[in-house]
Amino acid sequence: MMIRIASMVLFCCLLATQAAPVLANKIEINYTPLMVSNMQPPIAVEAVDGKSYLAYELRLTNGGGFEVKLKSLEVLDAEKKAIKTFSGNDLLQIVTVARKNTTDFKPGDTGFCWITFAQDNNALAKEISHRLTYEIQGTDKADAPILNPETIIETDKVKVDQNELVIGPPLSGKGWVAIGGIGTDTGHRRALLSLNNKLCLSQRFANDWIKLDENNRTSNGDRKECKSYPCYEQRIISVADGDVVDVVDVFENQIPDKPGRIKIADAGGNYAIVKIGENKYAFYAHMKKGSVKVKIGDTVSRGQEIGLVGNAGNSSGPHLHFHVCDHPSPLFANGVPFVIDQFNVEGKYKSEEEFFKADEQGKAQVIVDQLKGKHEKQMPLAGVIVDFP
Ligand SMILES: [Zn+2]
Repeated sequence: MMIRIASMVLFCCLLATQAAPVLANKIEINYTPLMVSNMQPPIAVEAVDGKSYLAYELRLTNGGGFEVKLKSLEVLDAEKKAIKTFSGNDLLQIVTVARKNTTDFKPGDTGFCWITFAQDNNALAKEISHRLTYEIQGTDKADAPILNPETIIETDKVKVDQNELVIGPPLSGKGWVAIGGIGTDTGHRRALLSLNNKLCLSQRFANDWIKLDENNRTSNGDRKECKSYPCYEQRIISVADGDVVDVVDVFENQIPDKPGRIKIADAGGNYAIVKIGENKYAFYAHMKKGSVKVKIGDTVSRGQEIGLVGNAGNSSGPHLHFHVCDHPSPLFANGVPFVIDQFNVEGKYKSEEEFFKADEQGKAQVIVDQLKGKHEKQMPLAGVIVDFP
């Protein structure tokens, strides 16, 4: 015992008399239990309100042994200036664990940040990174290592591309309501699926197009009959020149409001996928059985008929589900934005909740005077009522 104490004294003396060697490029160690990864790089797109939007996701996993509470999320530009900050209730609305909104991550929890925001048009970000501030809980316990409760991390920079995809309309005529898409966090926007061991969000920018009649109703008559819906059997047209890469035309219509159980692979019902560019595929879903006019290998032109609106697949009422994604698959793909070259906006629904309430009751929709007029090269926002040429 005496010898060990003596040698320790000697060691301390050596430290005191010699400069400690310093490792070049020494790596600083910080305990960061909440690990953040970018998923798909964002692509900025101009929406119908004239603003440029980014819509993308971050994945968060608590890989540590302590519960953590996320306090804020800042989106930073190339100069590390915050261009958008989420905190308090704003933050709670965009963070989920197991599909429930929360900013608390228990050890082992994985969650997602569903980020959508409009940028300042005078300062569009060319690259972004993120600064996350969180609190590690339980660091005051006697058996815990000494940790900073508040932790700040920054993610790697990712490049932001600007949307270059300009398409034509998928339908023609008046009174088409855009359900889903940018401007709502329900439905498509968060339809993230784990498929073939990959996380896929093909519906990120998808719209369900539903037609209003001359009295602004989505149905007129028996709601169990597809023919009571003004959009039923409307012509679906190709949004661009392209090559047909997949077609399904075998499913009967679902009974509106009472869809039966289906396999996830059959969610699109009768559909067509058309390659319209490099890693750009237009997807038209839920068509009426027997109406599909194209087959695999066909070349189609913009405006050419693809099929008729139906109610097949994962559909609770006749509508066209339309999106553009990066793979020739309905769901095993990631959704990419687009703008439509020309359309007219009649107004906007009052709210998504009120739209579906009036829809269920077959009542006239209340249309608010917003964003009215001609629009060029913009993406529809959720809730706009569009007249296509
Ligand atoms: Zn849909």
